[in-house]
Amino acid sequence: MKVYNTLTKKKEEFIPLEEGKVRMYVCGPTVYNYIHIGNARPMIVFDTVRRYMEYKGMKVNYVSNFTDVDDKIIKKANEEGVSSEEIANRYIKECKKDMEDLNVKPATTHPLATQEIDGMIAMISDLIERGYAYEKNGTVYFRTRRFKEYGKLSHKNLDDLQSGNRSLLVSGADEKEDPLDFVLWKPKKEGEPFWKSPWSDGRPGWHIECSVMSKKYLGDQIDIHAGGEDLIFPHHENEIAQSEAANGKEFAHYWMHNGFLNIDNKKMSKSLGNFFTVREIGEKYDLQVLRFFMLSAHYRSPLNFSAELMEAAKNGLDRIVTAVARLNQMLKASTVEELTEEEKAVLSEAEEFVTKFEAAMEDDFNTADAISAIFELVKLSNINAKETSSKTLLTELKKKIVTLCDVLGIITEKKEEMLDSDIEALIEERQAARKAKNFTRADEIRNQLLEKGIILEDTRQGVVWKRA
Ligand SMILES: [Zn+2]
Repeated sequence: MKVYNTLTKKKEEFIPLEEGKVRMYVCGPTVYNYIHIGNARPMIVFDTVRRYMEYKGMKVNYVSNFTDVDDKIIKKANEEGVSSEEIANRYIKECKKDMEDLNVKPATTHPLATQEIDGMIAMISDLIERGYAYEKNGTVYFRTRRFKEYGKLSHKNLDDLQSGNRSLLVSGADEKEDPLDFVLWKPKKEGEPFWKSPWSDGRPGWHIECSVMSKKYLGDQIDIHAGGEDLIFPHHENEIAQSEAANGKEFAHYWMHNGFLNIDNKKMSKSLGNFFTVREIGEKYDLQVLRFFMLSAHYRSPLNFSAELMEAAKNGLDRIVTAVARLNQMLKASTVEELTEEEKAVLSEAEEFVTKFEAAMEDDFNTADAISAIFELVKLSNINAKETSSKTLLTELKKKIVTLCDVLGIITEKKEEMLDSDIEALIEERQAARKAKNFTRADEIRNQLLEKGIILEDTRQGVVWKRA
């Protein structure tokens, strides 16, 4: 498996620290609003990386945080006259709903920054002790030049940074030892949430959060650290400086970054009026279409979002879903078990497309080529599967398409929604069966409903049901 490593600017063979196990950290969103489609790209892309590694039999410990204390959250809380906590909790919940609709698996752990303050204070204290940080008037800064490898991820030179990046000079420049130093801890302003620390009542800087959460849940050294390419500098560069200075070890072996998402070839921004939340897209399309669209390009390429491209993705996805539905239909009609010689040849051709799919994924997760392999498989199935085909052929073709789509997180079989009237008729039948002491039939009906995601509850007022 080859992975492009931002650190070395090369595709490298993926060798985990521990055989068969992957420790992976993906920077999560700051939760002050619904996530936008730019936030969705890393979620989908790195969920797909995880899924492929799991398909290959690796055990992935996947950690992705929520930044739940931040200026934007505080601003929103003040606007609404509620607490920052309320804002953060609300949008964490909404984000998790969007992730579910995008078929992004929940992380092994989703840490919250505000739950990890003790660890941050400990790491900052450690950095001060080691001479990598210093306090001035309640603020703690990282002594950037002390970390000799600073700039190794973004491939930036410290002196260029100093002369080129004026913004670094703006805030607190007067009290910093060096304009390149960045904040680890800052004192509260009036009305802001705060935590007690040896330096001031205040809160952590953004970068220290990820260093600490990664260390706590994955250890001092991890295999993959990932996020959008806008995080390379300064966020990930600073994370490396903090973690490697504090732990004395290489932090992450592979750094993966996804490319930008543009809207109609322009940068997405509220002021341009081309800003979309995932929720808004979900009103127009099944979010599976958004996922399929995102994976139709290589994750490192810039991706352009437009109505036409979404339509194309919708049609592409429909082709796959229809092929699977057709196979299901034929499976119901098929009466033969055994493969004919001709069918054996079809299956070996199908196997070649599976190999092609895997080769594409092994090459730095080239999902665009992987999807092409699925389309070839679909075409093969459409040409060869007939009502007279054997069950074995139909089952195998279906299994291959469904399995490969699942690696990409694409759902090929829609759960058929049961009509309310059908549910109620079955409940009535179950009641009658129970009255007649036919408990086998009653249980059968309960299970049948459960399979369709309908949960029954026997209450004093009778049976109530809900959709899971
Ligand atoms: Zn981060």
